[in-house]
Amino acid sequence: MLTLNDSIDKVPLIGPRNKALLSVLEIHTVHDLLYHFPFRYEDFSIIRKISNLIASEPVTVIGDVISIKNIFTRNGKNFAEGVVSDETGKIKLYWFNQPYLARSFKAGDRISFSGKLEAFSGKPAFIGPDFEILKSDGIPIHTGRLVPIYPETQGVSSKWLRSRIHATFDLLLSEFVTEFLPLELRQTEELIAIDVALKQIHFPDNLTSQEAAKKRLAFDEVFLVALEGLIRRETWKVNKLARQLKYDASDKAKINRFVDALPFKLTKSQQQAVDEINSDLVKNEPMNRLLEGDVGSGKTIVAAISAYLTVLNGASVLYMAPTEILANQHYETFKKLFDPLSIEIKIMTGSRKSESSTNNNKPTIIIGTHALLYRQNFDNIALAIIDEQHRFGVEQRTELLNRSKAENGGVPHLLTMTATPIPRSLQLTVMGDLDLSAITEMPVGRKPVTTWVVPKSKRDGAYAWLKKENQPTFIIFPFIDESLAESLKTVKAATKEFELLKKSLKPLKVGLLHGRMSSTDKDKVIADFREHRVDVLVSTPVVEVGVDIPEASIIVIEGAERFGLASLHQLRGRVGRGGQQAYCLLFTSDGDSDTRRLKALEIHHNGLELAKIDLAMRGGGELYGTLQSGDLGFKLADPSDVELLINARDWAQRILADLNKYTATSKLITELKTKKVGAN
Ligand code: ADP
Ligand code: MG
Repeated sequence: MLTLNDSIDKVPLIGPRNKALLSVLEIHTVHDLLYHFPFRYEDFSIIRKISNLIASEPVTVIGDVISIKNIFTRNGKNFAEGVVSDETGKIKLYWFNQPYLARSFKAGDRISFSGKLEAFSGKPAFIGPDFEILKSDGIPIHTGRLVPIYPETQGVSSKWLRSRIHATFDLLLSEFVTEFLPLELRQTEELIAIDVALKQIHFPDNLTSQEAAKKRLAFDEVFLVALEGLIRRETWKVNKLARQLKYDASDKAKINRFVDALPFKLTKSQQQAVDEINSDLVKNEPMNRLLEGDVGSGKTIVAAISAYLTVLNGASVLYMAPTEILANQHYETFKKLFDPLSIEIKIMTGSRKSESSTNNNKPTIIIGTHALLYRQNFDNIALAIIDEQHRFGVEQRTELLNRSKAENGGVPHLLTMTATPIPRSLQLTVMGDLDLSAITEMPVGRKPVTTWVVPKSKRDGAYAWLKKENQPTFIIFPFIDESLAESLKTVKAATKEFELLKKSLKPLKVGLLHGRMSSTDKDKVIADFREHRVDVLVSTPVVEVGVDIPEASIIVIEGAERFGLASLHQLRGRVGRGGQQAYCLLFTSDGDSDTRRLKALEIHHNGLELAKIDLAMRGGGELYGTLQSGDLGFKLADPSDVELLINARDWAQRILADLNKYTATSKLITELKTKKVGAN
């Protein structure tokens, strides 16, 4: 008898060699084997008598072997010829270059074979049909049904997997798996039992039962991720807070004065985000909130207001950005905002360790790249803000939390920000790990960026237009390597184009920006661009995240097909920030490839919408970022099925809140809790 936790080599006919092969497919236990799902089925469920066969129809025939022999031709070819009969007639079967095959069955065997009726030497025959000798129960595995086709690897065929999975089911106890979904849930959601689902996903009786199995197992996948997310959230919430903050009438008055002094009025959704964050900040449990808002929707100021509240409490703030350019820009913005209030702002990047005579007692806003994680003294940090959160790894967040715990005996409030509604951030949110504040509207007067996918024939014309317009313009060259990072190759390509453009765009002044320049040079060229000493800034996608130059009006993107739609949308978010009409020109490197996808940018001006379209067209997450839709480990569930995500999350929430009622799930929950879901 087998159990799910048994090692895979307990299954008959799986030895050390197979075990090693299976590990390539990440199959180590019986459980893994049963969760190695078919990715499609061959439909051989039509069974016919020999006299009723129709040419080219996928079909299964059951009959008795009359003869089987190997035939060697004079020119060195080899094939096996079998003759099979049933009560209605006889038919010939041929297999080429499989000399061992004639030994796998013999005259008198009852076999089932599947394939299509074709012709051989002008006579009806089956060529290379799948076949199996029928066992005593007469139920076929490889023929005569919906036949599962599996992800395979060298030395592991679908046929072999099928036979081992079938054998496994025969050896499992009837209660081989414990139902962990409450009956109430299964009835409401119309989900079949787990044991039935596992059998039917491999060996479905028919399409309907296959679909029912898939529905159940897909729900499980989402439900488990949701449970884990919620448990992780609980774990986060019980962390001790580094510092308790308050928000009294005098703080309120100061914040109102600060907001009134801004050159613009906050949008309604910015105000709502501020309110949500500030009410989290005064709770005595740590905040873990994601601020999501399209490019240019004004997240920075929302972060600044919460930083201000923290400083008013006598505590410090850490503000981490993914690039030096961005850190420097935030530093300048914050200095403008906070200098009049005599609040200390510091910067800490790989190349700038500002005026940092650390004065521990004075509340400070420390802005920097991930460099600040490893140098900054965490004393007195009550709020950590992470801009463009998807650019940071889990390790960096963990580092931040551990450092804070070590120095403050507790964790800071955590505010993460993103503009890219990449599937993952969307899912994490829906999955209950994070609280979400969304900025859903743009500042008033912002016009959508007019976007054109420019065909090759109009390329020269486009550059002539650009020259005539003489507006502050970005020209972006893509990352060239698969690595997605800014390699030397990318820098070289952009530099070469820069040299060419410098000549062809005369008299416009052209500048170059890439990630491998020194920080001083980067700052200088950005300042030159900001102050109109440079008209056209040729850049690698380092400007993708966050660069804010209000006058920039035109952006040209070369090799646009290499980007995800969300990234392109981010990039074009660099222009028109001052409320002027702005333009985005998309060029593809090999003429007119991929224009259908890119054309979505001409029509749609909403990042979420574009992310969905990208997902539908490419079937993956952002190619450009580091995130893929497979991140959550779904094999069956569709990560863009928001309804399923929300529904499973709601059930997970309901069940976690009432474990006494939902006893079916409590064992699973205990396991998940002890599995160490990690701090965050
Ligand atoms: P993102 O959300 O992409 O980080 P930023 O915070 O950089 O956007 O804001 C983009 C630009 O919009 C900045 O120049 C900022 O000063 C400006 N801005 C922010 N909020 C408003 C508002 N309510 N009205 C007008 N302009 C605003
Ligand atoms: Mg930003």
